[in-house]
Amino acid sequence: MTRTAVSNIRNRPKAQVLVVGGGINGVGTFRDLALQGVDVVLVERGDYCQGASGASSHMIHGGIRYLENGEFRLVQESVVERNRLLRIAPHYVKPLQTTIPIYSTFSGILSAPARFLTHKQGKPKERGAFLIKIGLTIYDFFSRDGGSVPRHKFHGRKKALAEMPQLPANLKYAATYFDASVHNPERLTLDVLQDGEKAGVNGGGATSRASNYLSLASMDAGNGGTVTLRDELTGETFDFSADVIVNTTGAWVDFTNEAMGAVSSYMGGTKGSHIVLDHPELLAACNGGELFFEHTDGRIVLIYPMEDRVLVGTTDIDANMNEDAVCTDEEIEYFFDLIGHVFPNIKVTNDQIVYTFSGVRPLPRHDATAPGFVSRDYRIERRQLPASDGGPSAVLSLVGGKWTTFRALAEHMTNDVLKELGVERKVSTAKLAIGGGAGFPDTESGVQMWIKSHMSSTRDADRTAVLLTRYGTRAEDVMRYLDGGSDRLLHSSRELSVRELEFMAENEQIGHLVDVLIRRTSLAFRGLVTGELLNEIADVLAGPLGWSAAVRSEEIKHAQNVLDRFHRVQVHSLVA
Ligand SMILES: Cc1cc2nc3c(=O)[nH]c(=O)nc-3n(C[C@H](O)[C@H](O)[C@H](O)COP(=O)(O)OP(=O)(O)OC[C@H]3O[C@@H](n4cnc5c(N)ncnc54)[C@H](O)[C@@H]3O)c2cc1C
Repeated sequence: MTRTAVSNIRNRPKAQVLVVGGGINGVGTFRDLALQGVDVVLVERGDYCQGASGASSHMIHGGIRYLENGEFRLVQESVVERNRLLRIAPHYVKPLQTTIPIYSTFSGILSAPARFLTHKQGKPKERGAFLIKIGLTIYDFFSRDGGSVPRHKFHGRKKALAEMPQLPANLKYAATYFDASVHNPERLTLDVLQDGEKAGVNGGGATSRASNYLSLASMDAGNGGTVTLRDELTGETFDFSADVIVNTTGAWVDFTNEAMGAVSSYMGGTKGSHIVLDHPELLAACNGGELFFEHTDGRIVLIYPMEDRVLVGTTDIDANMNEDAVCTDEEIEYFFDLIGHVFPNIKVTNDQIVYTFSGVRPLPRHDATAPGFVSRDYRIERRQLPASDGGPSAVLSLVGGKWTTFRALAEHMTNDVLKELGVERKVSTAKLAIGGGAGFPDTESGVQMWIKSHMSSTRDADRTAVLLTRYGTRAEDVMRYLDGGSDRLLHSSRELSVRELEFMAENEQIGHLVDVLIRRTSLAFRGLVTGELLNEIADVLAGPLGWSAAVRSEEIKHAQNVLDRFHRVQVHSLVA
């Protein structure tokens, strides 16, 4: 298998900056640096967005509950970034109507300041209407920069139950406000990455290069701070040098520092899980929006529609970094319980779960502070390296950093790197459209017109809509590729064609078959993976990726194993 992305790095094994970690924060930093004309390389040891960035609650939000922790700076920045992402990434980031069911008027007024002061959960005391009103008013105030989303509203019991009749009858009020959700975080990450790669293409060869399945294995202090990179698909290693190293390896930041010969104890990640349900009654009960509410233990949890499925989450448990993050039976029980709390008449069973996922939040070390009260803000730690000839001068480690704030964080990190390099910023990313968000229609009728104008004799409206949803306006590039040869839809899914898989193999750094199921499409998330699909995808990818019959079988087994072990999805392959 030829890995062009790895060869591009191996053939010129130096750059001004090496970014380690291909979650949204590393990729965002890579794009920003590339836009400034910096010679930058990014390495990700697995697939892009396979860490916390692929395990989030999919919310692009101000984080109303962080007001309780006194994190006003973070909430303000998050609300501003939410509004920005709605504008610059409208293909994946959409407004999300959110409803908070409320059962009392004044409850929680005394316990909230106590929680704020002690950062301990204590005995849960429900948050009442008064407290929620204060929070939403501050939230609206932070949102006043252009008003991308409507202001909050309070409804009495009658109106709330008329809109959502499955809510409990003892409800007193419902507050409705808007946040946003990212429908396809994996593809948004890829879009940001490809923007970064494009920015570096300037005639004589790319100055911004990135590869997945390439890890930072170690640093040799005796060899001028040269690092060793390892190709995780072939096991091969090679040396690489950079002036500055950016460590955006999320919950693994301390491990990465250790691999570079420095002990740090910045991180204290917490695990969170979600389940995805195929449950039409629950989907209907959500009325197209998110339910965001307090469970009996005082945790804020959520239920909301994602395409034709319902997402339920999440937990917040101190993570053991030596164990895989997976959704446990206890967590599933907790989720069923919270659904019963808000929709008492809706029953949920295990066979309605089509997918589960779990990840570790890259939070700062927090010792005695309860997980829910650990700061969600981010900071950048700088480590000066001993002077060496040609080696890096500093390592900048990111501690924290939410999905919502990735652009702002990338801007901060880039500014710090530019200072190290003595280079001026040239471009701001604040208003720059991301990938297939450029020219994306901003109304439903605009979307329909776009679809109509991109249909062809071989592409009906449904297929065109799938491509627009998956790639945004970058679908035009994909369609040009599809039209360059004869194509057909797979037999096992109307959502993928043979040439589209070939396009992914050529342009999207597919390392394993499972990457297509989890991170290039939403087929796994929606519970649509079958044995037939595995075999068909393997057959198509085998050509462009150079898989022998043995590798093809291994890839099917690997996909089955990942789906079973990390997502509780069992797929029986038709062919061994
Ligand atoms: C359960 C849960 C719910 C969340 N919900 C939300 C939400 O609704 N909204 C929101 O804004 N945020 C949310 N977050 C937080 C958000 O997802 C994360 O903070 C963010 O994605 C972190 O991105 P990152 O790039 O810093 O880290 P990661 O995405 O974890 O990326 C780090 C990457 O580094 C790679 N890596 C590690 N070691 C090496 C090495 N040696 N060499 C190369 N690569 C390496 C890893 O493979 C990984 O891909 C949630 C997080 C979780 C876990």
